[in-house]
Amino acid sequence: MSFGIDDLPVRDELRGKSPYGAPQLDVPVRLNTNENPYPLPEPLVERIAERVREAARNLNRYPDRDAVELRTRLAQYLTDTSGHAVGLANVWAANGSNEVIQQLLQTFGGPGRTAIGFEPSYSMHGLIARGTGTGWISGPRREDFTIDLAAAERAIAEHRPDVVFITTPNNPTGTAVPAETVLALYEAAQRAKPSMVVVDEAYIEFSHGESLLPLLEGRPNLVVSRTMSKAFGAAGLRLGYLAAHPAVVDAVQLVRLPYHLSAVTQATALAALEHTDTLLKYVEQLKSERDRLVRELLAIGYEVTASDANFVQFGRFEDAHTVWRQILDRGVLVRDNGVPGWLRVTAGTPEENDAFLDAVRDVKKEQR
Ligand code: PMP
Repeated sequence: MSFGIDDLPVRDELRGKSPYGAPQLDVPVRLNTNENPYPLPEPLVERIAERVREAARNLNRYPDRDAVELRTRLAQYLTDTSGHAVGLANVWAANGSNEVIQQLLQTFGGPGRTAIGFEPSYSMHGLIARGTGTGWISGPRREDFTIDLAAAERAIAEHRPDVVFITTPNNPTGTAVPAETVLALYEAAQRAKPSMVVVDEAYIEFSHGESLLPLLEGRPNLVVSRTMSKAFGAAGLRLGYLAAHPAVVDAVQLVRLPYHLSAVTQATALAALEHTDTLLKYVEQLKSERDRLVRELLAIGYEVTASDANFVQFGRFEDAHTVWRQILDRGVLVRDNGVPGWLRVTAGTPEENDAFLDAVRDVKKEQR
C-alpha cells in the first residue's frame, strides 16, 4: 500500500474530500471552463512585454504591496462602465477572484462562523469556505434555478450566516439575480446579524442587465467581486478584484499576504486595462454567440436555462455524465458540474460553437 493523504495528519474537515478539478483535457474544442476563446490581440501582447520588461528591471525589489496604480485603473474601469463612482479606496485586487473570496472568508468567516450560497452555484464558494474553516450552508434555489426569495430569507433567518454569497449571473446556471432580490437578501442578512453580503459578478459584462455596483452606496456590508478572467480574456493572468466600502478594503489587509500581487501580475494587468475597449469588443460577439447557442439548442430539442453569462446550461438528461462523455467522444469538452440532468457549455468562437452544435445534434440523433 502506498502512502497517501489519509496517512498524513491533515485537518479532519479535509479528509476524504476532492480538490477542485475541472478536467484539463487536450481535445480540439474546449468549452468547459468559461474562458474567453479569443487570444489577446497582438498590440496588447506587445504592450504586456514592454510593461513586464520594465517590471523585470526591478524584480530585486518587492512589488507595490498596495497595488495603487492598478487599483486606481480598476476603479476607473468600474466607474466608466457602471456610472457609479468608485475610487482607489473602494477597490482591492488579488490573484483571481478566488483569492479575493478567500481573503473575504479569512476576514469575515473562519472557525465558528458560517457562509451560505444558493446552490447550484459556483462550487469554489463552498470549497474556499471549507479551506478557511468556515461552516458551509447550502441554501435553496427553485427548480428553474432562480432564487426563491422567501425560502432564501428563511434560510438566512434560520442559520444567521456571517457571509452570504449571491452569484449573478450565476454559475453554472447563467441565471441573473434581480437587484430587488439582492437588496432583500442584504436586509435579511443584516436583520439576522450584521453579516457580509458578497455579490460575485465574475460574468457581469456578459449580462443583459446592469452591474449591482450602485447598490454599494450606503451599504458598508456589501461587496461586489469581479475578475479579469472572463470578459477581459485573461484567465491566465490571475487577477480578481472587489469594490466595497473603504473599511472592507482595510479589513482584508489583515489577512492578505504581504506582496501577494507580483510586479509581473500588476504590470500585465495594467497593460490589459490600457486595451479595455478592444478587449470588451469580444464581449459583444460572445453575447451574440451565447444567444445563438440558446436558440440552436432549443431548436434541436434541448432545454436551456436563461443565460446572462458566457455559457449556457442545457439538458435535460437522464444521465448527464454519459452525454458529457458522448460529446467528448466527438472532440468537444463541455462541463458536467454535477447538477443532475444538466450540462454546461461555454460560448466559444463561432467555429467552436458550430462543432459543439454538430456534436449535440449527433448525440440527440443517436438517442432517438
Ligand atoms: N466566481 C465565479 C462565479 C466563477 O465562475 C469563477 C471562475 N470560474 C470565479 C469566481 C473565479 O475566477 P478567477 O479566480 O479566475 O477570477
